[in-house]
Amino acid sequence: MCSSDLRGERDRNDGMREMRSEGNNKDWRRRQDGRRGGEEKTEVEVFGEVVSRSTAGIDFDKYDAIPVQITGANVDSIKPISRFSEAKLTDSLFDNIRRCGYDRPTPVQKHSIPIVVSGRDLMACAQTGSGKTCAFMIPCLESLLRSGPPPNPSGSRRPKPMPCGLVLAPTRELAAQIHVESTKFSFETGIRCCIIYGGADMREQRMDLEKGCDILIATPGRLSDMAERSNVSLELIQFFILDEADRMLDMGFEPQIRKIINMLPQERQTVMFTATWPTAVRRLASDFLRDFVEVRVGEAENLRVNPDIEQRVVLCDDMYGKEQQLVALLQENSNDQTIVFVNTKRECETVALRVDNSVVIHGDKDQHERDMALSLFKSGSRRVLVATDVAARGLEIGRAHV
Ligand code: AMP
Repeated sequence: MCSSDLRGERDRNDGMREMRSEGNNKDWRRRQDGRRGGEEKTEVEVFGEVVSRSTAGIDFDKYDAIPVQITGANVDSIKPISRFSEAKLTDSLFDNIRRCGYDRPTPVQKHSIPIVVSGRDLMACAQTGSGKTCAFMIPCLESLLRSGPPPNPSGSRRPKPMPCGLVLAPTRELAAQIHVESTKFSFETGIRCCIIYGGADMREQRMDLEKGCDILIATPGRLSDMAERSNVSLELIQFFILDEADRMLDMGFEPQIRKIINMLPQERQTVMFTATWPTAVRRLASDFLRDFVEVRVGEAENLRVNPDIEQRVVLCDDMYGKEQQLVALLQENSNDQTIVFVNTKRECETVALRVDNSVVIHGDKDQHERDMALSLFKSGSRRVLVATDVAARGLEIGRAHV
């Protein structure tokens, strides 16, 4: 979408949104935090060519039929939006949503955006692929744009990176995806989003943070490490987002998460997303969210299931039979791309040996190997991706069989 189309869209929405001055954007660029400034990417570098900007196959008619439950004190006063224009977003954010090719909000966005913009904490139960990233990142950016950058605490001679927004994600792949989306939403706002994760060079990540870091997207282990070494300070965090809370707890991150949350200021807004709602997640929510609103998208028992996925069970006698059936199934669908999930790293390698034209992703592969495998699969050069659950959620890989 070109700039004149964007202006046209804005004009058509007249009366719905306050036109705000772009003053705040400039303020974030001039934030007095010792930033060195990063290279500014062009619109095409950030969003891709206009023709390829798509809606990732979201079937809105199906999505709109999904029931949504909202609970919490005084929730009646917060009205869901049916169009992005009703959220009265700052112009640059609204333009970026259009540049992403989003025409209307998904159910989780309809409810989460006004709740979070109104300043409330949020616990959202929504399935993967429901548009969660926009649901938490847009209100976070909107709040930061409205408030402008904070003054730096006095007395620090050599300021260290002090993000104002923090997103924790369980895996590097998911963190990387959130970073890509956030870079789109924050385009030309002056707000800089950075990413840190384990298994990659810490020095390079530190140098990137020093260029300016307003929103930090991190995996828990690397963030604990860097915060303990004073490479980053969490004392200015106003906005904290915990993505895939249930998965984080399954992966054993609870102690690190609690430690990180205890480093954050008390005065902040907290948003948690989860696909399921086990007791451990409820406990985390009641310990760290204040006066929160709960949004559940979908029937409780269906929360993990994407309505676009057909599930079939094939019964096999033993391991050998299982592998034979798998190879036969892959041959049947030899024109399509397929993701095969297995339980162990060893099984990953064994299966990949039996399957032509495959790549593998598991926890023993370093970041470069994982990125390489993903990009070979995404580009279609490899037909089969064999993975452990490091790739189980949140990855966006076209239309593959699983
Ligand atoms: P997420 O759940 O954040 O990983 O989003 C899943 C996919 O849906 C991503 O490709 C998003 O870019 C896309 N998406 C999110 N919100 C919308 C929307 N309102 N309209 C169209 N596509 C969307």
